[in-house]
Amino acid sequence: MSTTPGAGLDRRELTRLGPVRRAVLLPSFQFWTVLPTLALVVVVLVSAAVGLEHPSANFGTVVTWIVWWGGLLVSFVLVGRAWCLVCPIGAIPEWLQRLSPWWGSRYTAGLGLPWPRRLRNLWLPTALFVVFVFLDNGYGMSNSPRMTAGLIAVLALGAAWVSLVFERRAFCRYLCPLTAFIGTCALTSVFELRRRDPAPCRNACPTKDCYRGNARRYGCPMGEFPGGGLESNLHCILCTECVKSCPHDNIALRWRAPGRDLWAMSRPRLDGACAAAVIVGLATVVPLLALAFLPELRSLLARLLPAGVPPNDPPRLAAVVLVFGVGLGATLGLLHAASLLSRWASGSARVTTRALFTRYAYALIPVGLSKLLADLLDHAFRTWGVLSNVTSALLLDFPWNRVMPERASATDLLGPLAVYGLQVALLLGGLLWSLEALRRTAPGPAADRASGVASFLPIAGLALVLTLASLWTLGSGLL
Ligand code: SF4
Ligand code: SF4
Repeated sequence: MSTTPGAGLDRRELTRLGPVRRAVLLPSFQFWTVLPTLALVVVVLVSAAVGLEHPSANFGTVVTWIVWWGGLLVSFVLVGRAWCLVCPIGAIPEWLQRLSPWWGSRYTAGLGLPWPRRLRNLWLPTALFVVFVFLDNGYGMSNSPRMTAGLIAVLALGAAWVSLVFERRAFCRYLCPLTAFIGTCALTSVFELRRRDPAPCRNACPTKDCYRGNARRYGCPMGEFPGGGLESNLHCILCTECVKSCPHDNIALRWRAPGRDLWAMSRPRLDGACAAAVIVGLATVVPLLALAFLPELRSLLARLLPAGVPPNDPPRLAAVVLVFGVGLGATLGLLHAASLLSRWASGSARVTTRALFTRYAYALIPVGLSKLLADLLDHAFRTWGVLSNVTSALLLDFPWNRVMPERASATDLLGPLAVYGLQVALLLGGLLWSLEALRRTAPGPAADRASGVASFLPIAGLALVLTLASLWTLGSGLL
């Protein structure tokens, strides 16, 4: 860092605060953030692999599917992709590749091949995320300690292999089944890491260390070029490597309007938009269809397919596949129809349906995320006591978790009606957030503000319908 520290700071910058600045400039910053999660993941893996098979008595499944999943959902809004900063499954293969946890190393254990050009998008990780969710809906992965352990092991081995063959964190950017989900939901964050001023990057920086690295620091592990106008949180894992490597002290972490990326991206891509639409569909339309039709569909398919014992029950698995296919197809179809109507209502020949579809998909993320958070509320208030029970059981037989805990003594923190009230508030908050993002988005591709407002109505209607679907799905448990 050769220039005056703190030059060009504004009031929104967190990196102007002394402790934050010292932390992110510390070469070993990421190493120290990964260590606690590494210890936790090792314990989770051991207990899930060899511990009690009952899911609510197993430390690994409770921590993974309640604590981690819940923390992940909440973290998007607060700190974007910060899970990827502390995720040992991504970090350790990177250290292996560099032969160094943080210091500059001249050697590498990897082949450093470029990731195939055709796969430099979010299509494959979006498909893998659908498979990930299917493993839970179809096979009950979150109720199976062994499947949970298998998932962690497969991800860890996959990340290590990819890291040894391809350059940078190719697994985290292009292959992890969670990257499309985490990246698109991180657009809702109240933080962003961006260059301060375009001038030094354009005029005074031939080396582009934030992307290429230098003798002491590494370039962006996600292959982003912060100095070149990084404009969304989609791929930034907040590793702060670019803050350290920039010789002009030109990268800052700052507050912003929550979810600013949802409407402010100048070049939104179709692959990310489809990932967003798929996430919204998996959160809203698919659960509604599963609730309404899954048992009947399973009965119908049982006439054609041999029945088995769940989770290996072919009629049910086929029914889940059908529900996923119809639910995701319907979500994409409805979004396309709303974009078409918007285009027609805008009266502008310059607006394309594809441009509207792409922008609207991102703006709908709060509707989907609020439904996922509402699902989490139900778990949090019903199963909070399980965490203390499994922790006590783990300590009885650390780290194997083979001793059955005492029966859970905790009762529900809130009754079903009170929980539903909070869920309604969450869903309405998500709807309002999406409507605000859509309102800011609509005038973008349209010719003028009036036509933009006209084009807003069809997609606002879709956001409302998706929210009503979620309210109905959650409310059905009260009947
Ligand atoms: S952010 Fe820093 S390293 Fe990157 S191009 Fe700009 S001045 Fe150069
Ligand atoms: S842009 Fe900076 S903080 Fe974000 S992933 Fe790249 S190097 Fe890390």
